[in-house]
Amino acid sequence: MSSSCLCDQCSALCCRYFVLEIDTPQTRRQYDDIRWYLVHQNVFVFIEKRKWYLGIYSRCKHLQPDNRCGIYDTRPRICRDYSTDNCDYHGGEYDWQVLFSSAEQLAAYAEEALAKRALKRSKERQKQQRQKARKPELTFVKKRPRATPRRLPKLRPGLMLGPALASGANGNGNGNRNGNGRHATSLRSLPVLPR
Ligand code: SF4
Ligand code: SF4
Repeated sequence: MSSSCLCDQCSALCCRYFVLEIDTPQTRRQYDDIRWYLVHQNVFVFIEKRKWYLGIYSRCKHLQPDNRCGIYDTRPRICRDYSTDNCDYHGGEYDWQVLFSSAEQLAAYAEEALAKRALKRSKERQKQQRQKARKPELTFVKKRPRATPRRLPKLRPGLMLGPALASGANGNGNGNRNGNGRHATSLRSLPVLPR
């Protein structure tokens, strides 16, 4: 506690309760857990700057009848860090947007918040479905590899066609005589060209 004379004029307002930050409720179950806090005596819940807090009115065990601290030299760090600047004495320490002092207040707020949340999620789902419907389906076709062109050997007609045409071959390997008296070459005896 500060040694400021301001505390001498105060009834030690800051030593009569404590506050803890709690998770922002998202589900009906989480709202119901907070409702459970509020069914107890001397409990309050508030929202300040979008954060949720649980407050409990409970007088410090070391607060003396003259409203002075009984363990001033060994008081906890939170008490040491607290100053009279804008403290509870000034009445403006907390700037809550919503204050719940009863379970019924919380329950009414929860119904409204859950309904808004459900509506928002429904709109998001509809938006996603519209986007999906507009988007064309992409189909992937596996590309077939191109066939490697077969290399054919270069034919030299002079080597093949000349003897074959001239032979009048009958395929039995004997061959016939042609008009100029030369033996014709059989097709079987054509040269094999290298690839
Ligand atoms: S509320 Fe302010 S003036 Fe009062 S005891 Fe606490 S610090 Fe001092
Ligand atoms: S320890 Fe002292 S300063 Fe801290 S809350 Fe208790 S009485 Fe107040």
